[in-house]
Amino acid sequence: MFKRIAGTKDVLPEEVVRWQKIEAIARNIFSLYNYQEIRPPLIEEALLFNRSLGQTSEIVQKQMFLIKREKEVYSLRPEGTASVVRAYIENNLDKTSGFMKLYYIGPMFRAERPQKGRLRQFHHIGCEAIGSSDADLDAEIISLADNLLKGFSVDSYKIKINSLGCPEDKKALTQNLQKSLTGKLARLCADCHTRFKNNPLRILDCKNEKCLEVIRKLEIKDAYLCPECKAHFNKVKEGLDSLKINYEITPHLVRGLDYYNRTVFEVSHPDLGAQDALGAGGRYDSLAKQLGGPDVGAVGFALGIERLFLVSSVKCQVSSKNLVYIISLGEEARRQNLKLLDNLRKNGITSDTDYEGKSLKGAMRKANDLGARYVLIIGEDELKKNVVTLKDMVSGEQKEAKSEDLIKELRC
Ligand SMILES: [Zn+2]
Ligand SMILES: [Zn+2]
Repeated sequence: MFKRIAGTKDVLPEEVVRWQKIEAIARNIFSLYNYQEIRPPLIEEALLFNRSLGQTSEIVQKQMFLIKREKEVYSLRPEGTASVVRAYIENNLDKTSGFMKLYYIGPMFRAERPQKGRLRQFHHIGCEAIGSSDADLDAEIISLADNLLKGFSVDSYKIKINSLGCPEDKKALTQNLQKSLTGKLARLCADCHTRFKNNPLRILDCKNEKCLEVIRKLEIKDAYLCPECKAHFNKVKEGLDSLKINYEITPHLVRGLDYYNRTVFEVSHPDLGAQDALGAGGRYDSLAKQLGGPDVGAVGFALGIERLFLVSSVKCQVSSKNLVYIISLGEEARRQNLKLLDNLRKNGITSDTDYEGKSLKGAMRKANDLGARYVLIIGEDELKKNVVTLKDMVSGEQKEAKSEDLIKELRC
């Protein structure tokens, strides 16, 4: 017997209702902010992610699902930003639309060791605003994340923000960090030793308990920010204050991807434990240019749907679908079945019948299990009189209805 791959999930019909609800809330809120949906492919050239996320990033180093075909190497997308920016450039959206607000909902793939809250196929609700470096846009996008979480009935979450500054500031921050970590290297994990050489900022993302102890004690001041970047960050904070958004300035927050600059943010939730990020995002002003496109600022974020489910209290009721269930008894009646169903559906009435050869009693039980609103019985008697027996499953009432009046009867 085949089993699903570890770290993947079957979303069964009863759970799909919840997914649809979350997606509907997201679409509605995105449209309030004038975002439009984009659906890039799930598979891209692997090089796209190496270039955007950074060769030394955790994702590129360990987590990409690579597919080799002859000389090409593809990857299932591990995140959405790189694909959206690639699509923005390739479709000349900078020339036709200029500034664009785009959102996406869909699966991402990372070859992680499966554990609670970490899947190999997981789902993101994300957005990217491409074509502006305005700090007000950062405030707006953080407020959008905040409103999405409120819309999903999540509370007790925390929004942490920081600014990495421009590439020069990032260099200064890296050097500061290297300086303050010298002498403490022996207390860091093996991965962090490599990070110290290749990309010291990533040490701040390490989840190793020993490293965390060292990291927590590090004092990181915002002195690395140049005047422009400091002013930009101040404007973001002012914007958030004016919107009354609760946030915490977290100097240790760097996000482990190369493309981020200036504003970075993360949403955490206490119920998620060590893997406590519900979502994250930030600015990536040089990514489009780096990928061969225009020199435009951009900012975005993504929320993990499976993690949202762990903390969201969104209620969803299965909407009553007013199902009409047909039970036909005998050869002749069965022959009428398909045509009758077709007629009901063409009149906008949800309907189904028994395809398992059940007895009357068994079919009635099935109708009840399906939550049918009406059961329609056709047997030899009914056929002779050109009527159907109509049973109201709510009131329990049963009556005969003329075949030509059936639609009218079912509609009221
Ligand atoms: Zn700067
Ligand atoms: Zn470490």
